[in-house]
Amino acid sequence: MKYVILLPDGAADEPVEELGGLTPLEQAETPNMDRLAREGRCGTQQPIPEGMEAGSEVGNLSVLGYDPVVHLRDSGRGPIEAASLGIDLADEESALRMNLVRVGSDGRMVDHSAGHITTEQARPIVEALSAALVDEFSEFRICTGKGYRHLAITSLPLEGMTYSPPHSIVGEPVADHLPRGGQQARLRELMAKASLVLQDLEINTARGDAAATDIWLWGAGKKLSLPPFVDEYGLNGGMVTAVDLPKGLAKLIGMSVEDIPGATGFTDTDYSAKVSAALDILEEKDLVYLHVEAPDEMGHASDRQGKIEAIEAFDSRVVGPILAGLERYNKKRILLTCDHLTPVAIGDHRAGAVPYVLWGTGITADGVRVFSEKECAAKGEDVGAGHLLMSKLIGI
Ligand SMILES: [Zn+2]
Repeated sequence: MKYVILLPDGAADEPVEELGGLTPLEQAETPNMDRLAREGRCGTQQPIPEGMEAGSEVGNLSVLGYDPVVHLRDSGRGPIEAASLGIDLADEESALRMNLVRVGSDGRMVDHSAGHITTEQARPIVEALSAALVDEFSEFRICTGKGYRHLAITSLPLEGMTYSPPHSIVGEPVADHLPRGGQQARLRELMAKASLVLQDLEINTARGDAAATDIWLWGAGKKLSLPPFVDEYGLNGGMVTAVDLPKGLAKLIGMSVEDIPGATGFTDTDYSAKVSAALDILEEKDLVYLHVEAPDEMGHASDRQGKIEAIEAFDSRVVGPILAGLERYNKKRILLTCDHLTPVAIGDHRAGAVPYVLWGTGITADGVRVFSEKECAAKGEDVGAGHLLMSKLIGI
């Protein structure tokens, strides 16, 4: 059997008044996803356990078949992204996510992504920050990641500290959301000094209204160790994604990770390169996990039309070609679901039930006609915790 997991990040939403009460997923033309729903078994699942932050690391870990309550506990996304970048953490070290962000002159968070800065633009800026801060802040190492997503690794004990994700505080005064807890003074000092460095850095300020004004530290955690996917489920798997978080999760569970040229994590991503890479992986392995970030980014931007278009692109340029590519196999199954909601009305992640469909060999239709939040909830089966879906995909 060949297995494909299709994950349009944050595609699930809530009814939108301006769309006549429809969600972007309902409004979008999605003939391929609707075919999966019509021929497969649908329902809802909860990718974010109660009490946990609705982060993509939590939701994707659930869909990979691991209970975040057991495996993630208090850890943020820092160590997952460190794993993705091949950075080995010592036992006493913690990895913090370090965003390049833009704060307005009124002290409010304007943009968690510094104008969706590219890796090429960000690299010299992060390297300059590292060089300028290394002497005064020798207990930190600053590492270049991807796009606006970088890392600060430190030997400081960060247990018990709390943070605000920068994408969750857009429009709010940042002073209300700085790191809190035992090491808050030192982390805030680092952020303040970095802001001064960024102000004087020509390669940064040359970006004008998109220039980074600050770094934002959050998502800290220590080295994670997760049981291998092959031991848990008896299958070999591979991951296709542009984003460090799912890449890091894949590395931590022993899945192969492909670097796809042209995969950006945004709406301009090279869909056909991702589909080809996924189908190549499937020739060798049992399972491929294909993650597309674009619907989530449109949700964060509160861009209704952009989210509809990102979902339609996922349908026509990912789901359709994957279905065509699977025709060569007699025994195949697809799981299509989301890692959390990213409602355009709030521009942020939300926990809650998201739709899923299981499709393929041995799976019979259940009367659901379209892939949508409402249909899957009304007519499908609620499996409860999202990590239980993997056994359903494999075990039916
Ligand atoms: Zn996500």
